Amino acid sequence: MLGEVIAIGDELTSGERLDTNSQWLSQRLTEMGIEVRYHTTVGDDLDANIEVFRAAIARADVVVATGGLGPTADDLTRESIAAATGVELVRDDASLERIRQMFLSRGRTMPERNERQADFPHGSQPVANPNGTAPGVQMVVQRDQRNPCLLFALPGVPAEMHEMWSQTVAPTTAAAVPQPRVIRHRRLKCFGVGESHLEAMLPDLVRRGRDPRVGITVSGATITLRVTAAGPDEAAAFAAMEPTLATIREKLGILVFGAEDDELQDAVSRLLVERQQSVATAESWTGGLLAQWLASVEADIQAKVGGDYLTSPEAVEELAVSIRRETGCNFALTIGAPDQSDPPAVAISLVGEDVTVTKQYPLIGHPTIVRPRIAKLALNLLRLHLLNHDPT
Ligand code: AMP
Ligand code: MG
Repeated sequence: MLGEVIAIGDELTSGERLDTNSQWLSQRLTEMGIEVRYHTTVGDDLDANIEVFRAAIARADVVVATGGLGPTADDLTRESIAAATGVELVRDDASLERIRQMFLSRGRTMPERNERQADFPHGSQPVANPNGTAPGVQMVVQRDQRNPCLLFALPGVPAEMHEMWSQTVAPTTAAAVPQPRVIRHRRLKCFGVGESHLEAMLPDLVRRGRDPRVGITVSGATITLRVTAAGPDEAAAFAAMEPTLATIREKLGILVFGAEDDELQDAVSRLLVERQQSVATAESWTGGLLAQWLASVEADIQAKVGGDYLTSPEAVEELAVSIRRETGCNFALTIGAPDQSDPPAVAISLVGEDVTVTKQYPLIGHPTIVRPRIAKLALNLLRLHLLNHDPT
């Protein structure tokens, strides 16, 4: 079953406000096994809204829209749905009475313009809104020679929308899904090569249309492989992923450092804690990133930030030797400052009882990306060594 989420409002298309509703709704629909193909964001314009609803009804089995249900002239969702489905708006007396009562209970009389909120496309039903005046709209839209489209329109206010989702939309939609299915994801985290290199190591796995599906994303040089599978229940979905996860681990070996929310520092920390070992750090160019990351996990760490702006590999290595001696830690990791070469390079040194590795890395790319990359390269040197893998 295919889903579509529509976000309505000038405040969204102008960039004034971030559309968080689409993210939230897509997560919920996906959990139910509905594949969301489109997010459409549209401003408060009647023709544009009609077009968007028509397209969504034609290409999705479940459509959930948010926004545009308020009482003012720029709230056009009811009119748009009526026009897109070719029906009239009809006033619902019960809804009108509820809205009137809602105002009365707050000690106010209902302004006339709120009456519009009791208008519904003919054939649709109101969706109760326990926290606000605007009821939602629920409609089964018939389509030629196909299953009908299940259409919902909810208010934009996230708290109201969330509750209406759980009370009404989720159970109604679940009942319409022919075979209940859940979609689940697992993530493997990798470091050490670029994404195209990594993709080349997984022939066929990242192919579109493959089931389970494997997606690749990169953030700050850490590569995430996201494996997605569907099944009648959660256990079945996870079981369906196992062979794919095993293949990835086998093909990538040491490049995989963790899973789900793991970062390199989590992997390094686990290894250090297992071995009851410690690390001292001193950093120049990375300004304490290593220290901050390691301090945020359980690693036994002693850190020194700022350094002496050492640039030569020899000096960076000497610093590692000396802070290791000074602190009595098992390992020392040091990161120097950029040298005068073009492009400039930074030296990283790892020193331990049976390891001394010093490497230079060119600084290519924007500092906001290269800085964490250099700190991760340092962490990865230690990780590889702790796994008895030659870090050179
Ligand atoms: P509306 O239902 O269009 O009157 O929207 C009411 C309020 O809900 C807006 O002023 C926004 O603050 C918020 N809102 C509307 N749509 C969204 C959305 N897609 N994501 C997050 N907030 C939203
Ligand atoms: Mg609006």
